[in-house]
Amino acid sequence: MNKINKSIELFKEAKLHMPGGVNSPVRAFKNIDGNPIFFKKAKGAYVFDADNNKYIDYIGSWGPMIMGHSHPEIIKAISKQLELGTSYGAPTSIESSTAILIKECMPSIKKIRMVNSGTEATMSAVRLARGFTKRNKIIKFDGCYHGHVDSLLIKAGSGVTTFGLPDSPGIPKELAKQTLSCEFNNKEDFLKVFNKIKNDLAAVIVEPIAGNMGFIPADKSFLQLLRKKTSENKSLLIFDEVMSGFRVSLGGAQEIYKIKPDLTTLGKVIGGGLPVGAFGGRKEIMDFLAPNGPVYQAGTLSGNPLAMAAGSKLIKLLIKNNPYKALEAKASYLLDGMQQLFLEHNIPLSINQRGGMFGFFFSENLPKNLNDVIKTNDKQFKKFLNKCIANGIYFAPSKFEAGFISTKHTKVEINHTISIIKQILEKGL
Ligand SMILES: *Cc1c(COP(=O)(O)O)cnc(C)c1O
Repeated sequence: MNKINKSIELFKEAKLHMPGGVNSPVRAFKNIDGNPIFFKKAKGAYVFDADNNKYIDYIGSWGPMIMGHSHPEIIKAISKQLELGTSYGAPTSIESSTAILIKECMPSIKKIRMVNSGTEATMSAVRLARGFTKRNKIIKFDGCYHGHVDSLLIKAGSGVTTFGLPDSPGIPKELAKQTLSCEFNNKEDFLKVFNKIKNDLAAVIVEPIAGNMGFIPADKSFLQLLRKKTSENKSLLIFDEVMSGFRVSLGGAQEIYKIKPDLTTLGKVIGGGLPVGAFGGRKEIMDFLAPNGPVYQAGTLSGNPLAMAAGSKLIKLLIKNNPYKALEAKASYLLDGMQQLFLEHNIPLSINQRGGMFGFFFSENLPKNLNDVIKTNDKQFKKFLNKCIANGIYFAPSKFEAGFISTKHTKVEINHTISIIKQILEKGL
Protein backbone atom coordinates (compact mmCIF):
# COMPACT_ATOMS: atom_id res chain seq x y z
CA MET A 1 0.00 0.00 0.00
CA ASN A 2 1.40 3.36 -1.02
CA LYS A 3 1.53 6.18 1.51
CA ILE A 4 0.05 9.31 -0.05
CA ASN A 5 0.55 11.82 2.76
CA LYS A 6 1.81 14.55 0.44
CA SER A 7 -1.13 14.10 -1.95
CA ILE A 8 -3.51 14.39 1.01
CA GLU A 9 -1.79 17.60 2.15
CA LEU A 10 -1.68 19.03 -1.36
CA PHE A 11 -5.37 18.28 -1.90
CA LYS A 12 -6.26 20.08 1.35
CA GLU A 13 -4.28 23.09 0.19
CA ALA A 14 -5.73 22.98 -3.33
CA LYS A 15 -9.28 22.96 -1.97
CA LEU A 16 -8.62 26.34 -0.37
CA HIS A 17 -7.85 27.90 -3.72
CA MET A 18 -9.81 26.03 -6.38
CA PRO A 19 -13.37 24.71 -6.36
CA GLY A 20 -13.10 21.09 -5.25
CA GLY A 21 -9.32 21.44 -5.33
CA VAL A 22 -9.17 20.65 -9.04
CA ASN A 23 -9.46 22.24 -12.45
CA SER A 24 -11.54 19.41 -13.92
CA PRO A 25 -14.08 17.48 -11.85
CA VAL A 26 -13.18 13.81 -12.55
CA ARG A 27 -9.74 14.45 -11.03
CA ALA A 28 -11.29 14.96 -7.59
CA PHE A 29 -11.85 11.15 -7.27
CA LYS A 30 -15.42 11.72 -6.01
CA ASN A 31 -16.61 8.74 -8.02
CA ILE A 32 -14.52 6.38 -5.91
CA ASP A 33 -14.61 8.37 -2.65
CA GLY A 34 -10.82 8.68 -2.78
CA ASN A 35 -8.09 11.27 -2.42
CA PRO A 36 -6.67 12.37 -5.77
CA ILE A 37 -3.02 11.58 -6.42
CA PHE A 38 -0.85 14.61 -7.12
CA PHE A 39 1.82 13.88 -9.71
CA LYS A 40 5.18 15.45 -10.22
CA LYS A 41 6.68 13.61 -13.16
CA ALA A 42 6.04 10.94 -15.75
CA LYS A 43 8.12 8.76 -18.02
CA GLY A 44 7.10 6.03 -20.45
CA ALA A 45 4.32 3.93 -18.90
CA TYR A 46 4.85 5.40 -15.43
CA VAL A 47 3.71 8.39 -13.40
CA PHE A 48 5.34 9.42 -10.11
CA ASP A 49 3.43 11.12 -7.31
CA ALA A 50 4.35 13.78 -4.77
CA ASP A 51 5.33 11.06 -2.25
CA ASN A 52 7.61 9.44 -4.86
CA ASN A 53 5.30 6.47 -5.41
CA LYS A 54 5.42 4.97 -8.88
CA TYR A 55 2.28 3.99 -10.81
CA ILE A 56 1.67 2.12 -14.04
CA ASP A 57 -0.47 4.65 -15.86
CA TYR A 58 -3.57 3.40 -17.67
CA ILE A 59 -4.97 6.90 -18.22
CA GLY A 60 -2.19 8.52 -20.22
CA SER A 61 -3.64 12.00 -19.73
CA TRP A 62 -6.93 10.60 -21.13
CA GLY A 63 -5.35 9.62 -24.41
CA PRO A 64 -2.47 11.79 -25.59
CA MET A 65 0.31 9.67 -24.06
CA ILE A 66 -0.19 6.91 -26.60
CA MET A 67 3.58 6.71 -27.20
CA GLY A 68 4.32 7.01 -23.48
CA HIS A 69 5.04 10.00 -21.25
CA SER A 70 7.93 12.37 -21.94
CA HIS A 71 8.70 10.86 -25.32
CA PRO A 72 12.20 12.13 -26.23
CA GLU A 73 11.25 13.09 -29.80
CA ILE A 74 8.22 15.06 -28.66
CA ILE A 75 10.28 16.84 -26.00
CA LYS A 76 12.84 17.66 -28.70
CA ALA A 77 10.16 19.03 -31.04
CA ILE A 78 8.70 21.22 -28.29
CA SER A 79 12.15 22.44 -27.17
CA LYS A 80 13.11 23.37 -30.71
CA GLN A 81 9.95 25.46 -31.11
CA LEU A 82 10.38 26.91 -27.60
CA GLU A 83 13.64 28.52 -28.72
CA LEU A 84 11.84 30.15 -31.63
CA GLY A 85 8.96 31.60 -29.64
CA THR A 86 5.87 30.28 -27.91
CA SER A 87 3.12 32.20 -29.70
CA TYR A 88 2.88 34.84 -32.40
CA GLY A 89 -0.87 35.26 -32.83
CA ALA A 90 -0.14 34.99 -36.54
CA PRO A 91 0.05 32.14 -39.07
CA THR A 92 2.93 29.65 -39.15
CA SER A 93 3.84 26.89 -41.60
CA ILE A 94 3.53 24.23 -38.91
CA GLU A 95 -0.27 24.75 -38.85
CA SER A 96 -0.50 23.63 -42.48
CA SER A 97 1.88 20.73 -42.00
CA THR A 98 -0.18 19.52 -39.02
CA ALA A 99 -3.38 19.90 -41.06
CA ILE A 100 -1.86 17.86 -43.90
CA LEU A 101 -0.89 15.04 -41.52
CA ILE A 102 -4.39 14.88 -40.05
CA LYS A 103 -6.05 14.99 -43.48
CA GLU A 104 -3.83 12.16 -44.73
CA CYS A 105 -5.02 9.97 -41.90
CA MET A 106 -8.67 11.06 -42.02
CA PRO A 107 -9.77 11.48 -45.63
CA SER A 108 -13.26 12.73 -44.63
CA ILE A 109 -11.50 15.92 -43.49
CA LYS A 110 -10.91 18.22 -46.45
CA LYS A 111 -10.36 21.36 -44.40
CA ILE A 112 -9.68 21.76 -40.72
CA ARG A 113 -9.56 24.47 -38.05
CA MET A 114 -7.37 24.22 -34.98
CA VAL A 115 -8.74 25.28 -31.60
CA ASN A 116 -7.54 24.87 -28.01
CA SER A 117 -9.67 22.10 -26.52
CA GLY A 118 -12.13 19.39 -27.41
CA THR A 119 -14.93 21.47 -25.94
CA GLU A 120 -14.10 24.32 -28.26
CA ALA A 121 -14.05 21.92 -31.20
CA THR A 122 -17.54 20.49 -30.53
CA MET A 123 -18.97 23.91 -29.66
CA SER A 124 -17.71 25.33 -32.94
CA ALA A 125 -18.79 22.29 -34.97
CA VAL A 126 -22.33 22.62 -33.61
CA ARG A 127 -22.44 26.33 -34.42
CA LEU A 128 -21.13 25.63 -37.91
CA ALA A 129 -23.71 22.87 -38.43
CA ARG A 130 -26.52 25.16 -37.36
CA GLY A 131 -25.24 28.01 -39.53
CA PHE A 132 -24.70 25.80 -42.57
CA THR A 133 -28.05 24.00 -42.41
CA LYS A 134 -30.00 27.04 -41.12
CA ARG A 135 -31.64 24.70 -38.63
CA ASN A 136 -31.54 24.58 -34.84
CA LYS A 137 -31.97 21.13 -33.36
CA ILE A 138 -29.24 18.70 -32.38
CA ILE A 139 -29.57 15.01 -31.56
CA LYS A 140 -27.00 13.51 -29.21
CA PHE A 141 -26.90 10.24 -27.24
CA ASP A 142 -27.12 9.55 -23.51
CA GLY A 143 -23.68 8.99 -22.07
CA CYS A 144 -21.80 10.55 -24.96
CA TYR A 145 -19.75 13.45 -23.63
CA HIS A 146 -18.88 16.24 -26.01
CA GLY A 147 -17.19 18.64 -23.63
CA HIS A 148 -19.03 21.13 -21.45
CA VAL A 149 -20.75 22.96 -24.30
CA ASP A 150 -24.12 24.41 -23.24
CA SER A 151 -25.94 22.76 -26.14
CA LEU A 152 -24.34 19.39 -25.49
CA LEU A 153 -24.44 19.15 -21.72
CA ILE A 154 -27.82 17.52 -21.99
CA LYS A 155 -28.66 13.97 -21.07
CA ALA A 156 -32.42 14.27 -21.18
CA GLY A 157 -35.13 11.69 -21.01
CA SER A 158 -34.97 9.92 -24.30
CA GLY A 159 -38.06 9.45 -26.37
CA VAL A 160 -40.33 11.61 -28.44
CA THR A 161 -42.19 13.43 -25.76
CA THR A 162 -39.37 14.47 -23.46
CA PHE A 163 -37.39 17.45 -24.51
CA GLY A 164 -33.89 17.99 -23.24
CA LEU A 165 -33.33 19.05 -19.69
CA PRO A 166 -29.96 20.57 -18.92
CA ASP A 167 -27.50 18.49 -16.87
CA SER A 168 -26.29 21.63 -15.15
CA PRO A 169 -27.73 24.86 -13.83
CA GLY A 170 -26.67 27.79 -15.95
CA ILE A 171 -27.97 26.40 -19.22
CA PRO A 172 -31.17 28.15 -20.29
CA LYS A 173 -34.10 25.78 -20.81
CA GLU A 174 -34.81 27.46 -24.15
CA LEU A 175 -31.38 26.41 -25.37
CA ALA A 176 -31.55 22.94 -23.84
CA LYS A 177 -34.81 22.37 -25.70
CA GLN A 178 -32.89 22.51 -28.95
CA THR A 179 -30.96 19.36 -28.01
CA LEU A 180 -32.54 15.94 -27.82
CA SER A 181 -30.76 12.99 -26.33
CA CYS A 182 -31.52 9.42 -27.41
CA GLU A 183 -30.32 6.09 -26.11
CA PHE A 184 -26.95 5.05 -27.56
CA ASN A 185 -27.11 2.04 -29.88
CA ASN A 186 -30.94 2.23 -29.91
CA LYS A 187 -32.19 2.64 -33.48
CA GLU A 188 -35.89 2.79 -32.58
CA ASP A 189 -35.35 5.55 -30.04
CA PHE A 190 -33.32 7.54 -32.55
CA LEU A 191 -35.88 7.11 -35.34
CA LYS A 192 -38.75 8.23 -33.12
CA VAL A 193 -36.98 11.45 -32.19
CA PHE A 194 -35.55 11.96 -35.66
CA ASN A 195 -38.93 11.68 -37.35
CA LYS A 196 -40.47 14.14 -34.96
CA ILE A 197 -37.93 16.93 -35.42
CA LYS A 198 -36.21 16.23 -38.72
CA ASN A 199 -37.37 19.45 -40.41
CA ASP A 200 -35.36 21.48 -37.93
CA LEU A 201 -32.52 18.99 -37.38
CA ALA A 202 -29.11 20.62 -37.94
CA ALA A 203 -26.91 17.74 -36.83
CA VAL A 204 -26.53 14.43 -35.09
CA ILE A 205 -23.42 14.24 -32.92
CA VAL A 206 -22.07 10.96 -31.62
CA GLU A 207 -18.96 9.38 -30.16
CA PRO A 208 -18.67 6.48 -32.63
CA ILE A 209 -16.55 4.70 -30.07
CA ALA A 210 -17.76 6.06 -26.77
CA GLY A 211 -15.16 6.55 -24.06
CA ASN A 212 -17.14 8.64 -21.61
CA MET A 213 -19.54 5.98 -20.28
CA GLY A 214 -16.79 3.45 -19.91
CA PHE A 215 -15.68 2.06 -23.25
CA ILE A 216 -18.60 1.27 -25.59
CA PRO A 217 -18.16 1.02 -29.35
CA ALA A 218 -21.32 1.77 -31.31
CA ASP A 219 -22.92 -1.02 -33.33
CA LYS A 220 -22.01 -0.63 -36.96
CA SER A 221 -25.64 -0.77 -38.11
CA PHE A 222 -26.52 1.98 -35.62
CA LEU A 223 -23.91 4.32 -37.09
CA GLN A 224 -24.95 3.33 -40.62
CA LEU A 225 -28.52 4.32 -39.78
CA LEU A 226 -27.35 7.71 -38.47
CA ARG A 227 -25.38 8.22 -41.69
CA LYS A 228 -28.30 7.27 -43.92
CA LYS A 229 -30.94 9.33 -42.13
CA THR A 230 -28.81 12.47 -41.80
CA SER A 231 -27.80 12.32 -45.49
CA GLU A 232 -31.40 11.91 -46.65
CA ASN A 233 -32.46 14.79 -44.44
CA LYS A 234 -29.53 17.09 -45.30
CA SER A 235 -28.62 17.20 -41.61
CA LEU A 236 -24.95 16.88 -40.73
CA LEU A 237 -23.39 13.87 -39.04
CA ILE A 238 -20.69 14.89 -36.57
CA PHE A 239 -18.33 12.23 -35.27
CA ASP A 240 -16.84 13.39 -32.01
CA GLU A 241 -13.45 11.72 -32.20
CA VAL A 242 -11.79 13.92 -29.58
CA MET A 243 -10.99 10.72 -27.71
CA SER A 244 -11.04 8.01 -30.39
CA GLY A 245 -9.15 10.00 -33.04
CA PHE A 246 -5.61 8.60 -33.41
CA ARG A 247 -6.37 6.40 -30.37
CA VAL A 248 -8.25 3.44 -31.86
CA SER A 249 -6.56 3.59 -35.27
CA LEU A 250 -4.74 6.16 -37.40
CA GLY A 251 -7.98 7.10 -39.12
CA GLY A 252 -10.04 7.01 -35.94
CA ALA A 253 -13.34 5.21 -35.48
CA GLN A 254 -14.52 6.37 -38.91
CA GLU A 255 -11.79 4.24 -40.47
CA ILE A 256 -12.78 1.18 -38.44
CA TYR A 257 -16.47 1.53 -39.32
CA LYS A 258 -15.82 2.80 -42.87
CA ILE A 259 -18.33 5.62 -42.36
CA LYS A 260 -17.63 9.19 -43.46
CA PRO A 261 -19.06 11.87 -41.20
CA ASP A 262 -19.64 15.41 -42.50
CA LEU A 263 -17.64 16.89 -39.63
CA THR A 264 -15.15 15.39 -37.20
CA THR A 265 -13.98 16.86 -33.91
CA LEU A 266 -10.53 16.06 -32.56
CA GLY A 267 -8.45 16.82 -29.47
CA LYS A 268 -6.44 14.83 -26.93
CA VAL A 269 -3.91 12.84 -29.05
CA ILE A 270 -3.48 15.51 -31.73
CA GLY A 271 -1.98 17.88 -29.16
CA GLY A 272 0.73 15.45 -28.06
CA GLY A 273 -0.03 16.41 -24.44
CA LEU A 274 -0.48 20.14 -25.04
CA PRO A 275 -3.92 21.79 -25.08
CA VAL A 276 -5.41 21.39 -28.56
CA GLY A 277 -8.64 20.67 -30.36
CA ALA A 278 -9.65 20.74 -34.00
CA PHE A 279 -12.68 20.28 -36.19
CA GLY A 280 -12.80 19.55 -39.87
CA GLY A 281 -14.76 17.94 -42.65
CA ARG A 282 -16.39 18.64 -45.99
CA LYS A 283 -14.90 21.59 -47.82
CA GLU A 284 -18.13 23.46 -48.52
CA ILE A 285 -19.13 23.22 -44.87
CA MET A 286 -15.75 24.32 -43.52
CA ASP A 287 -15.67 27.22 -45.98
CA PHE A 288 -18.82 28.48 -44.29
CA LEU A 289 -16.51 29.57 -41.43
CA ALA A 290 -15.13 33.10 -41.09
CA PRO A 291 -13.20 34.61 -42.80
CA ASN A 292 -14.53 32.72 -45.87
CA GLY A 293 -18.09 32.40 -44.68
CA PRO A 294 -20.56 33.92 -42.23
CA VAL A 295 -20.15 31.59 -39.20
CA TYR A 296 -17.83 33.23 -36.71
CA GLN A 297 -15.14 31.29 -34.87
CA ALA A 298 -11.77 32.50 -33.60
CA GLY A 299 -8.96 31.90 -31.10
CA THR A 300 -6.04 34.01 -29.87
CA LEU A 301 -3.87 30.96 -29.26
CA SER A 302 -5.42 28.66 -31.89
CA GLY A 303 -2.83 26.73 -33.86
CA ASN A 304 -0.32 27.55 -31.14
CA PRO A 305 3.16 26.65 -32.42
CA LEU A 306 4.18 24.65 -29.33
CA ALA A 307 0.99 22.58 -29.49
CA MET A 308 1.36 22.09 -33.24
CA ALA A 309 4.99 21.02 -32.77
CA ALA A 310 4.06 18.45 -30.13
CA GLY A 311 0.97 17.23 -31.95
CA SER A 312 2.50 16.93 -35.41
CA LYS A 313 5.51 15.08 -34.00
CA LEU A 314 3.24 12.61 -32.25
CA ILE A 315 1.13 12.09 -35.37
CA LYS A 316 4.31 11.48 -37.39
CA LEU A 317 5.44 8.91 -34.85
CA LEU A 318 2.05 7.22 -35.02
CA ILE A 319 2.13 7.13 -38.83
CA LYS A 320 5.64 5.67 -38.75
CA ASN A 321 4.94 3.07 -36.08
CA ASN A 322 1.26 2.30 -36.69
CA PRO A 323 1.09 0.77 -33.19
CA TYR A 324 -2.65 0.10 -33.06
CA LYS A 325 -2.64 -3.67 -33.63
CA ALA A 326 0.10 -4.08 -31.07
CA LEU A 327 -1.73 -1.83 -28.60
CA GLU A 328 -4.92 -3.81 -29.02
CA ALA A 329 -3.06 -7.08 -28.49
CA LYS A 330 -1.54 -5.70 -25.27
CA ALA A 331 -4.89 -4.42 -24.06
CA SER A 332 -6.50 -7.78 -24.65
CA TYR A 333 -3.60 -9.58 -22.94
CA LEU A 334 -4.23 -7.39 -19.89
CA LEU A 335 -8.00 -7.77 -19.99
CA ASP A 336 -7.99 -11.51 -20.64
CA GLY A 337 -5.64 -11.91 -17.68
CA MET A 338 -7.93 -9.81 -15.50
CA GLN A 339 -11.06 -11.61 -16.59
CA GLN A 340 -9.49 -14.99 -15.86
CA LEU A 341 -8.65 -13.89 -12.30
CA PHE A 342 -12.11 -12.46 -11.72
CA LEU A 343 -13.66 -15.66 -13.02
CA GLU A 344 -11.64 -17.65 -10.46
CA HIS A 345 -13.18 -15.46 -7.76
CA ASN A 346 -16.69 -15.68 -9.19
CA ILE A 347 -16.89 -11.97 -9.91
CA PRO A 348 -18.38 -11.19 -13.32
CA LEU A 349 -16.20 -8.90 -15.42
CA SER A 350 -16.94 -7.92 -19.00
CA ILE A 351 -14.13 -6.55 -21.18
CA ASN A 352 -13.66 -4.77 -24.51
CA GLN A 353 -10.91 -3.00 -26.46
CA ARG A 354 -10.02 -1.33 -29.76
CA GLY A 355 -6.55 -0.08 -30.58
CA GLY A 356 -5.15 1.76 -27.57
CA MET A 357 -8.48 2.09 -25.72
CA PHE A 358 -10.16 -0.43 -23.47
CA GLY A 359 -12.83 -0.92 -20.85
CA PHE A 360 -13.81 -3.36 -18.15
CA PHE A 361 -17.14 -3.51 -16.38
CA PHE A 362 -18.36 -5.26 -13.25
CA SER A 363 -21.14 -6.97 -15.16
CA GLU A 364 -21.94 -10.31 -16.76
CA ASN A 365 -22.56 -8.82 -20.20
CA LEU A 366 -20.93 -5.92 -21.96
CA PRO A 367 -22.95 -2.71 -21.57
CA LYS A 368 -24.46 -1.32 -24.77
CA ASN A 369 -25.54 2.06 -23.41
CA LEU A 370 -25.44 4.39 -20.42
CA ASN A 371 -28.22 2.62 -18.53
CA ASP A 372 -26.33 -0.66 -18.74
CA VAL A 373 -23.23 1.03 -17.31
CA ILE A 374 -25.21 2.61 -14.48
CA LYS A 375 -26.40 -0.88 -13.53
CA THR A 376 -22.88 -2.36 -13.28
CA ASN A 377 -21.67 -3.03 -9.75
CA ASP A 378 -20.64 0.27 -8.17
CA LYS A 379 -19.45 -1.03 -4.83
CA GLN A 380 -17.10 -3.58 -6.32
CA PHE A 381 -15.76 -1.07 -8.80
CA LYS A 382 -14.97 1.47 -6.08
CA LYS A 383 -13.24 -1.05 -3.85
CA PHE A 384 -11.27 -2.48 -6.73
CA LEU A 385 -10.21 0.91 -8.05
CA ASN A 386 -9.07 2.24 -4.67
CA LYS A 387 -7.01 -0.90 -4.10
CA CYS A 388 -5.47 -0.73 -7.56
CA ILE A 389 -4.42 2.88 -7.10
CA ALA A 390 -3.11 2.23 -3.59
CA ASN A 391 -0.96 -0.51 -5.11
CA GLY A 392 0.47 1.49 -7.98
CA ILE A 393 -1.99 0.65 -10.76
CA TYR A 394 -3.50 3.89 -12.01
CA PHE A 395 -6.80 3.08 -13.70
CA ALA A 396 -9.39 5.79 -14.40
CA PRO A 397 -11.18 6.57 -11.12
CA SER A 398 -14.72 6.26 -12.48
CA LYS A 399 -16.70 3.47 -14.08
CA PHE A 400 -17.77 6.02 -16.69
CA GLU A 401 -14.25 6.41 -18.05
CA ALA A 402 -12.22 4.32 -20.47
CA GLY A 403 -8.73 2.84 -20.10
CA PHE A 404 -5.71 3.72 -22.21
CA ILE A 405 -2.57 1.79 -23.01
CA SER A 406 0.67 3.05 -24.59
CA THR A 407 3.49 1.67 -26.69
CA LYS A 408 5.63 1.84 -23.55
CA HIS A 409 3.46 -0.67 -21.69
CA THR A 410 5.36 -3.93 -22.11
CA LYS A 411 4.69 -7.44 -20.83
CA VAL A 412 6.64 -6.40 -17.71
CA GLU A 413 4.13 -3.69 -16.77
CA ILE A 414 1.12 -5.75 -17.78
CA ASN A 415 2.25 -8.88 -15.94
CA HIS A 416 2.95 -6.74 -12.88
CA THR A 417 -0.56 -5.29 -13.16
CA ILE A 418 -2.07 -8.75 -13.35
CA SER A 419 -0.06 -9.97 -10.35
CA ILE A 420 -1.22 -6.99 -8.26
CA ILE A 421 -4.82 -7.65 -9.25
CA LYS A 422 -4.34 -11.31 -8.29
CA GLN A 423 -3.22 -10.25 -4.80
CA ILE A 424 -6.12 -7.80 -4.48
CA LEU A 425 -8.66 -10.49 -5.37
CA GLU A 426 -7.04 -13.07 -3.12
CA LYS A 427 -7.43 -10.73 -0.14
CA GLY A 428 -11.06 -10.21 -1.17
CA LEU A 429 -12.70 -7.11 -2.61
C1 LIG B 1 -12.44 14.88 -23.75
C2 LIG B 1 -13.56 14.95 -24.70
C3 LIG B 1 -14.13 16.17 -25.08
C4 LIG B 1 -13.74 17.48 -24.45
O1 LIG B 1 -12.42 17.81 -24.68
P1 LIG B 1 -11.71 18.87 -23.68
O2 LIG B 1 -10.35 19.04 -24.30
O3 LIG B 1 -11.69 18.22 -22.34
O4 LIG B 1 -12.52 20.10 -23.72
C5 LIG B 1 -15.10 16.17 -26.06
N1 LIG B 1 -15.52 15.03 -26.62
C6 LIG B 1 -15.01 13.83 -26.27
C7 LIG B 1 -15.48 12.59 -26.94
C8 LIG B 1 -14.03 13.76 -25.28
O5 LIG B 1 -13.56 12.56 -24.91
